[in-house]
Amino acid sequence: METPGVIAVGAVQSVVDRTVDLLDTLASEVVTPAEVAVVLREHGETGPDPTPEDVAALRGAATELRSVLAAPTLDLAAERVNALLARTAHPPRLSNHGGAFSWHVHVDSDDEEAPLAEWFLASAGLVLALLISDRQRLPGGVCAAGGCERVFVDTAHGSRRRYCSRRCATRERVAAHRART
Ligand SMILES: [Zn+2]
Repeated sequence: METPGVIAVGAVQSVVDRTVDLLDTLASEVVTPAEVAVVLREHGETGPDPTPEDVAALRGAATELRSVLAAPTLDLAAERVNALLARTAHPPRLSNHGGAFSWHVHVDSDDEEAPLAEWFLASAGLVLALLISDRQRLPGGVCAAGGCERVFVDTAHGSRRRYCSRRCATRERVAAHRART
């Protein structure tokens, strides 16, 4: 992160972090169910391990989410969020999974049994919708560093975030400095 997040703690930020980590993992050329399972567990998901079919569906979902984050205009980002919510979201409800978790909002079809890809799209779609309505600006972007195609979710204060990571921001700064000297 180049600047502290607007939403430093809480459910929205944790869905943002989970979404970005899943997008990064799913963007690799080859992704195994075990690799996806590790990311899910890192984010507190305790469901059964994903199957190869789940991973294929998650990759499709990732492509759709990437197109939201790469949208060049706010109108287009909103339109794409609406399209994915129309397909995947169900009436919002609070769940604590019988007391096993803190209360959080579900918009997938079932708290426990919904397909992973549906859960991924619906939960990320809801959070991107909240970010857009809260901030009236693009919810993310594609890293501006040369050769990096990672997407990010923009929760930064102030000016628009441009890089996926501090590493890419530093690399670009060094390259720009070298180009000037
Ligand atoms: Zn980058």
